[in-house]
Amino acid sequence: MDKPQHFWRSRSPATRLAAGYVLILMFISLVFSGWLYRLSVNELADGLRHEYARIKSFGSDLVVLADPEPSVDVLKEAKQHLVVELVYFNSVILVLGSVVSYRLAKRTLRPIEEALESQSRFTADASHELRTPLTAMQTEIEVALRDPSLNKPAKKLLNSNLEEVAKLKALSDNLLRLANKNDLNLGRSVSLLQVTREACNRYAKPAKANRIKITNKVSDLQVPGDYDSLVELAVTLLDNALKYSPAGSTITISSSRHGKQAYLVVADQGQGIRVADQPHIFDRFYRADSSRSKDTTEGHGLGLSIAQKIASLHGGEITVKSTPGKGSTFTVKLPLGSV
Ligand code: ADP
Repeated sequence: MDKPQHFWRSRSPATRLAAGYVLILMFISLVFSGWLYRLSVNELADGLRHEYARIKSFGSDLVVLADPEPSVDVLKEAKQHLVVELVYFNSVILVLGSVVSYRLAKRTLRPIEEALESQSRFTADASHELRTPLTAMQTEIEVALRDPSLNKPAKKLLNSNLEEVAKLKALSDNLLRLANKNDLNLGRSVSLLQVTREACNRYAKPAKANRIKITNKVSDLQVPGDYDSLVELAVTLLDNALKYSPAGSTITISSSRHGKQAYLVVADQGQGIRVADQPHIFDRFYRADSSRSKDTTEGHGLGLSIAQKIASLHGGEITVKSTPGKGSTFTVKLPLGSV
């Protein structure tokens, strides 16, 4: 089931659209050919029957010549000829149709691709432009905070400003990452064990500080992919699991393999996600109500959309199963490819 799906998902949008056009074209062409074949054979058989009857009416001598046997042969030969002609006709339609469909699909998609590219470029440029003044503000506030003559309320204000600047910087970094993630080099064979080990190492300290246990049960599965992006994906899931889990709970990372797919699973025993929120958590800037209203957890609702984009660029996807109050399980499906 997964094989043709992956095959098509890994094709370019123009190829997929062209394949759709060709399918429609070939369907019409084959239906038309079938109809033409039946019509021609019926007409030919009728013609032969009339011819036989006409000759028969001239006298018994000619009837010998117009024996039904030769007309059967003529019909058989005509049918074969017709089939060859129709196969030839459909092959020409297939080749010409493929070329024309691909060109047409490319032309149709060009304005959409240009619009998306310009949107990505704008987001990337805007985020980039924001970084410089934000970094300058951060440095200035840090320098100001070192002033010993600063009174307590002023220090509190500056610290709060520093936090907001850090949040804005994180937002502009995330937007930049989202805009730049359009193409990945999937040529390398990446070990999921190595990826998750790196992600776990980065979170060892905060996990310990929050008394949360991280268990890594991932086996040494290899997938074709981009190492840094897969680490980023694992880090996002682990970061969320930590953010939304209570002290004393356990986060389990595991993996499995089914057919040509590898599965990476991050399960926590945290607050869970409401059923109504679950379909939207992969949308940009979406934060489930519980986290928004409490406003205790940091984030801008971009982590999972970046993670989903990474999975999709690898030909995979992320799905979630969650029970409010009990925990969430995020499953990343990645094609094993030929590794
Ligand atoms: P954020 O930066 O807000 O964490 P994400 O895109 O990573 O953004 O996640 C979107 C929303 O999905 C979060 O605001 C949170 O409500 C919900 N969520 C994601 N992971 C978990 C989890 N492990 N447990 C509970 N809620 C989660």
